[in-house]
Amino acid sequence: TRVFLSQSVILWSAMQVHGFVTSYNTNEEWVARAVGDACIRLHLADEQVCRSITELFRDDFIRALQESLLWPSEACGVLVGPSCGKFDIYAPWNITLPKVPKPPVTPPTPPKPGSPQSRILFLTDIHWDQEYEAGSSADCKEPLCCRKDSGFPSWRRREAGYWGTYGKCDLPLRTVKNLLENAALAGPWDWVYWTGDIPAHNIWSQTRNQQLTELKVISRLIHKYLGPDVIVYPAIGNHESTPVNSFPPPFVHGNRSSSWLYSAMAEEWSPWLSVQALKTLRRGGFYTMEIQPGLRVVSLNMNFCSRENFWLMVNSTDPADQLQWLVTVLQASEDKGEKVHIVGHIPPGLCLSSWSWNYYHIINRYESTITGQFFGHTHLDEFQMFYDEPTMTRPLGVAFIAPSVTTYINLNPAQPSCLRLELCWYVVY
Ligand SMILES: [Zn+2]
Ligand SMILES: [Zn+2]
Repeated sequence: TRVFLSQSVILWSAMQVHGFVTSYNTNEEWVARAVGDACIRLHLADEQVCRSITELFRDDFIRALQESLLWPSEACGVLVGPSCGKFDIYAPWNITLPKVPKPPVTPPTPPKPGSPQSRILFLTDIHWDQEYEAGSSADCKEPLCCRKDSGFPSWRRREAGYWGTYGKCDLPLRTVKNLLENAALAGPWDWVYWTGDIPAHNIWSQTRNQQLTELKVISRLIHKYLGPDVIVYPAIGNHESTPVNSFPPPFVHGNRSSSWLYSAMAEEWSPWLSVQALKTLRRGGFYTMEIQPGLRVVSLNMNFCSRENFWLMVNSTDPADQLQWLVTVLQASEDKGEKVHIVGHIPPGLCLSSWSWNYYHIINRYESTITGQFFGHTHLDEFQMFYDEPTMTRPLGVAFIAPSVTTYINLNPAQPSCLRLELCWYVVY
């Protein structure tokens, strides 16, 4: 899916480079048709997927191009890579760190035996497929199979299982419910991190209404199974929006802005989040909250670091001032002697490089304050290390990347948990 998407974006860019897209409004239809044709001719996907996806992306993409005032070579640079042209999205930028000197580092020590523990459940990448159908084909031409439209296999081909399937398949609701039921039994949990990607991978045929239904159904299920006393701290995944990865920063207003999504999230998550947290969530999709005295969580909207969020062509410098805000939060925590966990969807190592390096500086400066980082998105059980910048030899932080609930692609469903603060005893079920 990723490859397919970036290829169709390259097509858009190629058309831009060759001057096809001169007057967007009059030529929009024509451009969408031409890109759809090229997608079919180059066998990037089958006809119906090609048509739907160009249709779905057309308006947002053209609007972003219009606002970005890119020259063709710059558009090519951002979409194809530095070999094709140079663009600002790769230009370096720097957040400002406060003048307060970094406090001396004391090496972390394991907690004494018998010190208090908390149990944290960590959920990510559920990817519920409303159209999952047991018995349908697990091998199909589309980017997502095991659905009503995937067809039914002949006797020698693989078919979608009842609970899920190894293949290009997401999950039926019963599997999500079963996982939550068992997660509840494995409790009690003190709190939950939930790092996004709720909808399925049928990115060529999603509507805002479907995305919102999935958000509501899954948020309410988590609430129901884990109970009203367990607070869940969600973060926004790249699949929550449609078109996928399309997260306009707050400078975009009106119907193309993300407010259709963020305000629904604020409504669904209001049982868990504070009034102040809901306020920044509505504005930029990120927030901070005190979990308990001495511990705070920061939930970042990592779509503002994403290479695939084409709105960043307009301006990629600290979108929504999120990292500058993070520094303010961390400085306040350092002043109070509070520890901070960071949660988000896309791991920082996969971000646009300037975003990534700014984040790395922040982790360096606040290494004694940040005691945990939790991400998802890759669907794999991984971690990323942070080292001290002067020597790049002393490890000072680790980002845990949790495996997905969905089986997409060829995976077992998983759900890790973490036992408390300074040291995270990390267990994957
Ligand atoms: Zn995912
Ligand atoms: Zn993702």
